[in-house]
Amino acid sequence: MYDILIIGAGPAGVSAGVYAVSRGMRALILEREQVGGTIGKVSIVTHYTGQQPRETGASFAARMKDQALQAGVEILYADVEQVCLTGEIKTVATNKGVFRAKRIILANGCTPRRLGIPGEAELWGKGMGMNAARDAAAYTGKEVFVVGGADGAVKEALYLASFARKVTLIHVEDQLGCIAEFRRKAAAAANISLRLGAQLMAIYGHDQPERLKIADLRTNRIETVDAPGCGIFLYAGAVPNTALYPELTLENGYIPTNERMETALPGVYAAGDIRVKEVRQVATAVADGAIAAIRAAAY
Ligand SMILES: Cc1cc2nc3c(=O)[nH]c(=O)nc-3n(C[C@H](O)[C@H](O)[C@H](O)COP(=O)(O)OP(=O)(O)OC[C@H]3O[C@@H](n4cnc5c(N)ncnc54)[C@H](O)[C@@H]3O)c2cc1C
Repeated sequence: MYDILIIGAGPAGVSAGVYAVSRGMRALILEREQVGGTIGKVSIVTHYTGQQPRETGASFAARMKDQALQAGVEILYADVEQVCLTGEIKTVATNKGVFRAKRIILANGCTPRRLGIPGEAELWGKGMGMNAARDAAAYTGKEVFVVGGADGAVKEALYLASFARKVTLIHVEDQLGCIAEFRRKAAAAANISLRLGAQLMAIYGHDQPERLKIADLRTNRIETVDAPGCGIFLYAGAVPNTALYPELTLENGYIPTNERMETALPGVYAAGDIRVKEVRQVATAVADGAIAAIRAAAY
């Protein structure tokens, strides 16, 4: 039996783990993929206080992992499949066994949204749904499309532009939804072009994308673009990983908490991108994790 179970080893979960052991708690983080979460997969980490210059997501995640292990946080790579949050003892069933604790912190973030368009499933991993940090070099001198217009999408487009011959950002809104710094850099990059008010409708190809169908939402015109061997990188929002928590009442799919990160259920805390909040960044995720662990330790 652990003192605290934490689901997810992104910034919120790792921060919670470090703070929990500092309060004398025996803490276990359950993580289905890798320590670092979403930020561990980005090209460059930006705006987080104290980060290294040009820090990659991979190096940031590696430092997070070292810090957690050195602090004495236990990490188990396991997929959480079912959770029981009511009652004094919380139960978490994973593909590696069942775990119990009096306190639990839900920090399992969000999953990137898929488009659900024709060709997406067939070409997933074969040119579609790529990860810029991992795959950008494979598109050196080639053409890529980035779907999305928020900070993450434009930042990854800027990174891709340092490899690809041509980068096209496809965004449904009339304006990019990113910070001014990224908008300015995208405008200054000679090989980035914008398709605003546009929507990717379908992708055609067998082993690689050959053609894209793109709708101009302003004119309702649909264009077919030939782009054999292109890469399509998807940064079009995210869906909270809350299907595990039917016992909680959600708001637009996210978990409501108070300022102490307490959910409506005693002994159950939520931290990071998975909870109802205004700003989803590493800075706010680690803050949530710290608060959740300190409050949980006092529970
Ligand atoms: C493209 C992009 C770029 C970004 N760049 C920046 C940036 O430069 N600076 C910044 O501050 N923010 C950035 N962000 C935002 C930042 O990544 C998030 O706010 C932050 O990662 C949230 O941390 P989290 O711990 O709440 O969730 P996550 O990082 O999503 O971590 C959740 C973890 O839970 C795990 N998990 C999920 N379900 C289960 C399950 N059933 N069982 C076990 N484990 C599970 C996941 O594998 C994951 O590791 C970016 C986001 C995107 C999409």
